[in-house]
Amino acid sequence: MKEIQALFPSEDGNRESRNVLLSLITKMIEEIDSHKNPSTTSLGQLSYRTNNYYQQIVEESIAPLQGIGLDNVLQQLLRLVPGHPYQSRNYLNNALPLASIPGIIGYLLTVILNGNNIYDVAGPAGAEAEVKVVAMMSKLAGYDHKQSWGYSTWGGQGAVFSGLRLAIAKQYPRAKEDGIPGNLYCFASETAHYSLLKSVEATGIGSSRLITVKCKSDHSMDEMDLKEKMEEVIKSGGVPVYIVATAGTTDSFGVDDIKEIKRTSDEITQKYGQKPVHIHADSAMGGFYCLFNHYDFEINRLGFEENVIEELMSIRERMQHLHIADSLCFDFHKLGQTPYATSLFLVKNGQCLHLLDLKEWDTPYVGNRGYGSYHTGFTLECSRMASSIAMYAALLGFGVSGYQQLLANYVHVNLVFRKKLLDRFSNVAVTNDKNPGPVTMFRFYPNGRSEWKRELDGLAAGEQIRATNEWNRLLFERLGKHRDKVFFGDTTRQCLVNILDSPDRQPVAAIKFFSISPFTTVEVLDDIIMFLSGIVNESSMYGLRAESGRIQGDERLAATVN
Ligand SMILES: *Cc1c(COP(=O)(O)O)cnc(C)c1O
Repeated sequence: MKEIQALFPSEDGNRESRNVLLSLITKMIEEIDSHKNPSTTSLGQLSYRTNNYYQQIVEESIAPLQGIGLDNVLQQLLRLVPGHPYQSRNYLNNALPLASIPGIIGYLLTVILNGNNIYDVAGPAGAEAEVKVVAMMSKLAGYDHKQSWGYSTWGGQGAVFSGLRLAIAKQYPRAKEDGIPGNLYCFASETAHYSLLKSVEATGIGSSRLITVKCKSDHSMDEMDLKEKMEEVIKSGGVPVYIVATAGTTDSFGVDDIKEIKRTSDEITQKYGQKPVHIHADSAMGGFYCLFNHYDFEINRLGFEENVIEELMSIRERMQHLHIADSLCFDFHKLGQTPYATSLFLVKNGQCLHLLDLKEWDTPYVGNRGYGSYHTGFTLECSRMASSIAMYAALLGFGVSGYQQLLANYVHVNLVFRKKLLDRFSNVAVTNDKNPGPVTMFRFYPNGRSEWKRELDGLAAGEQIRATNEWNRLLFERLGKHRDKVFFGDTTRQCLVNILDSPDRQPVAAIKFFSISPFTTVEVLDDIIMFLSGIVNESSMYGLRAESGRIQGDERLAATVN
């Protein structure tokens, strides 16, 4: 048993045992550091995994009969590191954050204490950190902290799902027992995250009752279209229960006008004598920008440049209404720079959570004792990780000002990137140019000049947009091949536009520049533009060949790549 005990931190706090753990951690960090190179986006060589890579692993993997010893465990673990993405200055793919030191030490405490956040008796640290973080973020978001409540959950996805559970319970308090009626409807814009799609599937509402609302040219929800679609639903016997208003869309950073959405929704429900609809602000991506809601741009304590201030103020125009939503979310593991999964779900009126709570009878071994007063029976999870400890650490480590500096830097970097991009290429368009923020979407045109305005205005033919999409997809492939140097993101459906020759809206493909690393500053942009030029120049030559139509699909790529 002694050997087995040696696999645990000590019972009595002795130094030797502590040093075993510390030396493993030191070796781990040393090894990771040895792979770092700021001009690449991976730790060591990027490995290209073939189709049968995982199949082979399945064949080979067998749990060892005997433990292999701590040093060997570490050696095996470190074999997982090479080729892993690393959020250096050139990492521009998605909101995959570089875990900050406050986030990491918060996380470490979480796993070393290893309390269960279900209940304060089993996890008092988690309970306390959770209450602190809920209160801090409620105040920052503009909620009344005496009314609001919340908890850490499984991602922005979990928050969208929790909002929907609440939305259903508010309209149908007996749905928990009786099941849901068959005429419930949910609404979100066409660029909303697919979290709602999964949620309507999982709750049994069904994806055919998820109504997609059109977007405006700034990629925010078109309230007129929302109004029409809500009326249509009600007139045909449906009940709107849930609207997801996105505050920072995943690709374009479009921010829905929550105030206007609330006004529209209330107008319709009052007109038809229905209950108010629960509005969830899906602020998983953009929520942190509400930290500027009380920044004094006149005094400008942090000395932001004039054009950055303008952009931040335009984001604030929308973000100041965040508190109107009935629930919202902060994905700390996106712009909050903490490890996965650290997401916070907040509810404006915390009392509602009781609608979801379990009865004492149903939870015989937790809660409802004289010696514990914090039991999260209303969460979908049972055992819960105390991820709020990492959030708490990050809030303390960065402070509001620290976050403001990080977030303003993203805006600054994108502003300068857009300018440099448009200066360098005549055949490119920024397709989210009305959206300041941490991301720039752009698209190239094979015939030498930007067609974006025509496309956006619905004046392009479907075939033409599809051809441009195809050309950009070839660029994605080429960029992807070289992602170990500069890692751009891409999307085949950044938004939808009207077209000349069909009533169907057409998806637009675009490349994504997402600044998420604190090391992506304006100083590094020239190198990034140069890299992009190299890829685009090669592809332009090739684009002419593609247009000749003689070479097909993968063959076309193979002809130019390598
Ligand atoms: C990322 C994202 C989600 C999903 O969040 P996870 O933390 O990945 O579960 C939901 N909504 C939006 C707008 C997002 O950007």
